Amino acid sequence: MLIAGNWKMFKGPEATREFAAAFDPPAGVDVVVAPPYVSLAAAVEARLTTFAQSVHWAPEGAYTGEISTGMLLELGVAGAIVGHSERRQFFGETDETVSMRAEAALAAGLEVIACVGELESEREAGRTEEVLRRQVGVLPDDERLVIAYEPVWAIGTGRTATPQIAQEAHAFIKSLLDRPVLYGGSVKPDNARELLAQPDVDGALVGGASLDPGSFAAICEAALT
Ligand code: PEP
Repeated sequence: MLIAGNWKMFKGPEATREFAAAFDPPAGVDVVVAPPYVSLAAAVEARLTTFAQSVHWAPEGAYTGEISTGMLLELGVAGAIVGHSERRQFFGETDETVSMRAEAALAAGLEVIACVGELESEREAGRTEEVLRRQVGVLPDDERLVIAYEPVWAIGTGRTATPQIAQEAHAFIKSLLDRPVLYGGSVKPDNARELLAQPDVDGALVGGASLDPGSFAAICEAALT
């Protein structure tokens, strides 16, 4: 089981150190945090397994606002999230750029959590499988790749996919690419156990509930039962 916390644009270095001091996850679960870039060093120094929230495909160059694989490795960062729906929605991320980011990160030796998931309108139109096929289709088959199924209508909305919806989507994704699949979308301590109990749910990508060390540890506990 892998439980990953995506902190989005929350927690500078000081708040990251405070989180690490208070965070006490159970043994037996792989735990990752993905802080903002400026807090990566603080997270690594606090001995948290640390992922970036994105990474660029070029080794260096004129790409304002971006970060390279080499820079992450120099800090001791273990991996990167790519293709989060907020990147797709607000920053022009496409299947093509997600693929380029994932390929470059894996080639550099980083682990990758690649996010996929349908919009509410796509689910209502019966297009979930078509969307997942397109998004998963650009991802490399690599032993350091993990996929996160994050239905966009469940992210930050308090609406969680039912365990059945999650299971169905995960099984479909694995039929396309046989890699571990995390569920993401309003995972909280009180719904984590049921979601994580589904046979094809291999962990969780947690947004809001990963910001509090107590609730994030409780989700990690739920992964053990
Ligand atoms: C996310 O952003 O990856 C996410 C799942 O957010 P939340 O848990 O807040 O819905």
